Amino acid sequence: MKSFNYFQPTEIIFGSGSINQIGECAKRYGEKCLLVTGSKFPAASPFYKNIIESLTQAGMIVTQYDGVIPNPTTNVVSDGAKLAKMSGAQVIIGLGGGSSMDVAKAIAVEASHPGTAWDYLHYKTQPSEKTLPIIAISTTSGTGSQVTQCSVITKTDDLDKSAIWHKNIFPKIAIVDPELMLTLPAEITQVTGFDALAHNFEAYISVGTNPYVETLALEGIRLIVNTLPKLLEDPHNIEYRSKMAWADTLGGICISSAGVTLPHGLGMQISGHCPHIAHGLSLAITYPEFIRFTYQYAINKFAIVGRIFNSKLNSTDNETAALQCCEEFNSFLKKINLFTGFESVNVTKETLRVIADHGQVLSDYKNNPRVATIDDMYTILTNCYAR
Ligand code: NAD
Repeated sequence: MKSFNYFQPTEIIFGSGSINQIGECAKRYGEKCLLVTGSKFPAASPFYKNIIESLTQAGMIVTQYDGVIPNPTTNVVSDGAKLAKMSGAQVIIGLGGGSSMDVAKAIAVEASHPGTAWDYLHYKTQPSEKTLPIIAISTTSGTGSQVTQCSVITKTDDLDKSAIWHKNIFPKIAIVDPELMLTLPAEITQVTGFDALAHNFEAYISVGTNPYVETLALEGIRLIVNTLPKLLEDPHNIEYRSKMAWADTLGGICISSAGVTLPHGLGMQISGHCPHIAHGLSLAITYPEFIRFTYQYAINKFAIVGRIFNSKLNSTDNETAALQCCEEFNSFLKKINLFTGFESVNVTKETLRVIADHGQVLSDYKNNPRVATIDDMYTILTNCYAR
């Protein structure tokens, strides 16, 4: 059996109503907190009230920074870091989807170090133990950021989307309360749900995977395949929301250990160059070609996943089940209304050329069982143009 290390330091508080524990959780790290959110979305206002009440009842002084936008930028982080310093925040709480949780992590670095968060990207300086403690409260089921050592940010001037990746930005505590996800509209449930599937799947097939991750990832895949289509039909079903929230958390645990592969590396370039494209949508667009490109290099794993999608494949050989897995992914994308191409989101072929040329900037592509050249990436992207 393969040797491996596994490290996951985040305390996970999971379940309906767990949000009420935020006050006592924050109190462990001091008296002043910065609450990092997007601008208030009316459907979610009951959370804010409960959260602020729980924090103030625990004796916390709360400063709110509500400047987060999807695909958040370095400017968004710097504005929040200034507020964190001015208010003397001792703990940073990210409340929202991946964007809010990632901004909270980057603020925790920028407010406690010289320079900006961008100076602490994975290939630059390492953030030290001075990094402020982070509590992550997820309100989407997609990125798994509540349990990862990753913060994704975009430098708009350079069209560059990159990440801080360091153990010092693992949230100390993740609160995963599926009730916070009941307000998610269908289009965000779809793309974030697919992101969670992609995390579990890519961590499962990654060349850097390990037996711990493989076990968790298969459970994450099974939960999403069986739940996401039903959830889209019945969006207020708390049992389905809970299963997606758990699958999302499993995906985060898996990528924090095994990383992601080709589609995520390309997805970072897609959202860097085209910030109007949601992260999960960038994955959905590239997946049909990515799986076709990859499946012959991981026949057994594709066969196992194919059989999760379609139990009739239990009686077929691995080659057939792996090939059929590609079709099953396509059918799943159609079922969740995400079988679409770049043309539908106004991305030109010239932009696809630029994205492909940057496709090896991040090292995720090296984790793929079949390593893609820049030309392969361009072919994959252009094959995803019209669908
Ligand atoms: P998001 O955080 O950008 O949120 C998308 C939209 O959903 C926003 O408009 C937000 O206001 C809204 N929203 C969030 N929760 C809601 C709720 N409960 N009800 C109604 N509306 C709600 O989307 P995301 O997909 O969660 O995060 C994407 C970001 O995370 C990208 O930048 C991506 O690159 C990054 N990411 C990070 C990691 C990581 O490990 N740190 C992993 C994958 C992706």
